[in-house]
Amino acid sequence: TPQLLFSLFLLATTALAFAVIYRNLQRQQRLVQLKNDFISNVTHELKTPIATVGVALEALQSFGVDRNPEQTREYLAISRQELDRLAMLVDKVLKTALFEQQSLALAPEPLDAAELVQQVLGTLRPQLEKYNAQYQYVPEGSDFGLRGDRIHLTNVLYNLLDNALKYSPSTPIITIRLWEDATHLRLEVLDEGIGIPELYQQKIFEKFFRVPSGDVHNVKGYGLGLSYVASVVRSHGGSIEVESTLGHGSRFTIQLPRNLSLSSTASTFKSTP
Ligand code: ADP
Repeated sequence: TPQLLFSLFLLATTALAFAVIYRNLQRQQRLVQLKNDFISNVTHELKTPIATVGVALEALQSFGVDRNPEQTREYLAISRQELDRLAMLVDKVLKTALFEQQSLALAPEPLDAAELVQQVLGTLRPQLEKYNAQYQYVPEGSDFGLRGDRIHLTNVLYNLLDNALKYSPSTPIITIRLWEDATHLRLEVLDEGIGIPELYQQKIFEKFFRVPSGDVHNVKGYGLGLSYVASVVRSHGGSIEVESTLGHGSRFTIQLPRNLSLSSTASTFKSTP
């Protein structure tokens, strides 16, 4: 009867509504958990350099700077190093807070992707040397012009390359490829690092998500880089993909339209994926 059908319809929609609410709750709970992990990670990491500098200063006070020049130099070097690390951490936390709060406006301008790659490789030189990395840059084409936001796209490249270094044990081997066609540019960052389990390959783009026990080089991150990268790429009307084999390496490919038209894409991005 129509009444029975209507009741069934009501029942089905109610069940559906509950299922949606339940899923949202589960997602929120997971986000809260990830945020808590993030806060405890950061707190721990901030405390360590502060404690080290404290101990070094105490030692300097107690043994007398004049009588132990050798040890003084050593303790000062340690303090300097730890302070640099602290500054980097604070910077990261501040950037994170900014990224959390605001939807950043894009300031598009004509850019040359090849130039951005060279610039980021220059900025990363100390890390490339520190990890003894081998890298090759393979441009395929001659015109890599596009319209985009210089700062955000530079950060995108930086994050992808930094990850390729961070998640490669021993000697990182990295290939950067750039292609062009009439409408799009494609950039690929390929590493031969630890790879990402298939189960996590889409999750890594979520805010705060980190692959459990994924750290090599003892460099901790906060699981924010790739969610930022994905937001920037999407707000340019582009896309990002990952292919990865556990133990063999990863390939991140971004595709960007050459002509960013702010009317067809969002002119701002929200940090929520
Ligand atoms: P972070 O590196 O700060 O943890 P990201 O958002 O950049 O944050 O990356 C999220 C997670 O994805 C990382 O914790 C790591 O587990 C994994 N990941 C990212 N890039 C790579 C890569 N090139 N190789 C292996 N794992 C990666």
